[in-house]
Amino acid sequence: MEVVIFGLIFLSVVSYLVIMEKISAFYGIIFFIAILSINLYQLNIYLGMGVMASLFLLVPFIGKSKNNNDIQEKSSNVHKSGDEELNYIKFKNFVNDYIYLIKKDYKISSLVIYEGYDDFFKLLKLDSIENFSYVRNIVDRNDSIFTALSQFETINLSTNDKLLKNNIIHRLDSEIKVFVYQYKRYLIYIFYDFETLDREIQNNINSFLYMFNDLKKQIILKDYKRDLLSLSEKFNQLITPKDILNAFIESLRKYPSFDTLIFTEYKDNAQFIKLVNSDNKNISMSENSFIDSKNSIINLAFESNYPLPGSYKFDYQKNILFGDQDNFSEYQSLLVYPIQEQNKAIGTITLLSRTMGIYNKETVNDLKLMFNMFDIAFLNAKIFKQMEEMATTDGLTGLVNHRTFQEKLTEYLARAKRYNKKIAVILSDIDHFKLVNDTYGHPMGDEVLRQVSKVLKKDIRDVDLVARYGGEEFILIIEETTKEEVYVLANRIREEIKSLEFTSNQTEFNVTISMGFAIFPDFAENKQKIIDFSDKALYYSKENGRDQVNCICDIS
Ligand code: GH3
Ligand code: MG
Ligand code: MG
Repeated sequence: MEVVIFGLIFLSVVSYLVIMEKISAFYGIIFFIAILSINLYQLNIYLGMGVMASLFLLVPFIGKSKNNNDIQEKSSNVHKSGDEELNYIKFKNFVNDYIYLIKKDYKISSLVIYEGYDDFFKLLKLDSIENFSYVRNIVDRNDSIFTALSQFETINLSTNDKLLKNNIIHRLDSEIKVFVYQYKRYLIYIFYDFETLDREIQNNINSFLYMFNDLKKQIILKDYKRDLLSLSEKFNQLITPKDILNAFIESLRKYPSFDTLIFTEYKDNAQFIKLVNSDNKNISMSENSFIDSKNSIINLAFESNYPLPGSYKFDYQKNILFGDQDNFSEYQSLLVYPIQEQNKAIGTITLLSRTMGIYNKETVNDLKLMFNMFDIAFLNAKIFKQMEEMATTDGLTGLVNHRTFQEKLTEYLARAKRYNKKIAVILSDIDHFKLVNDTYGHPMGDEVLRQVSKVLKKDIRDVDLVARYGGEEFILIIEETTKEEVYVLANRIREEIKSLEFTSNQTEFNVTISMGFAIFPDFAENKQKIIDFSDKALYYSKENGRDQVNCICDIS
């Protein structure tokens, strides 16, 4: 009889606890069977009651660990799902599940979490399952949330408090109390309708944030690793400094993101603004201007070879970015990162954003590895370019050298053949150049060669080519042209060279040039013939009095 009464009392107690969700059904059944078996075997009624009492004492702890277990279980599911699949979707689900759980268990009407940085907060809006967003947001220094942060302690706010300027204040009504407290870099608001807020909720949120932080770090690290890998792969495939720079800019567009990017490079004793990548067409700054102020913010980062902002505070209204004509007041965030070559700054990359506070010390650290990779890739590309230039161009005149000319002529002729087009080759030789050297000296002769090269380069189109064929001989390839057009072009070049004025020891002198040309396929059917014939035509010009142009087609 006693057993039945005890059994019934105990069954109803356990059922109540299970229904009230203080313990789980599993624990309930275990309790029940344990107590019942003690009583059934009539071991000792007092022992049975003692066990029952101690189980009651355990209930709060079992109840407490239940929620944490759920959260831990959820988070370990996120972990367990394998590193490969750890992504934002899973992470987001984890967060949403948690919100659901905590709101259900504790009857909290809303939960808002802010993630703090150096001097601003990001809003993690966690108020409903559908409504998880990660919004960049600034907290006003006069807001109570800022006070809470600076006091480093939990504060209770009434609804009259100035909570957040533009954000969630409108969602409060007078009935709801707000509880604010801080955990590491997080500030948490809990909107609740309880009389008192249980420590349990705090512990629970703490453990959630701990896991939240941990998971987020893992995801960020994973993303970062993937980005670095793809950047290094890109760098390996690209050759020119320009391509390397563009690939890097594309990566920066993703993280940390910018509205305007400015690239500067140090050249000829000045910092030279080479590229302004901007979404704002109103910026009045030409691509090839120089930094005109030593006190400019970019120059500061460059001279110190240290990224800004570090401890330096930039006043977006007052400070000069480049020079006096700056107009960057619309921007709220700035990051200047020096580009290095063997630990020396050789330029900068500046990021500007209209969002306040998006670059901080963490960003600077995050970018370190990316910039190191860029520095190396950029330097390699520049060295490669230099070597290539040395191999293909002539050092004195900067024109394509003889070997490269031969390769290029083959390409031009193949193309002309394929598309049924004409190609002219003009061979030119400065008249009595030996005399120039003998009279005015070899350095003066070099200067003449440089000036003549400039005229040749200037007068031809981008599709054409001019090469230094030999000592004072130049050769031109002119695409898609007629005999008449070549005469016009060549004579214009000849006249321009003739009008160049040189001075040596107060003596003024001029040079003239002789030219001969042939046209493929009309008057020369292959590479060897076109060179031979233009040489013949040149010889004819020399024989015929120099300072003139002749076509092989007009020589009998
Ligand atoms: P012509 O009108 O018949 O062409 O007479 P020329 O004196 O120009 O003919 P020549 O081919 O005999 O002389 C070419 C001279 O060009 C000889 C050489 O010293 C000079 N020369 C070749 N390369 C260079 C160079 O890089 N710098 C200088 N200063 N002189 C060079
Ligand atoms: Mg010659
Ligand atoms: Mg000559």
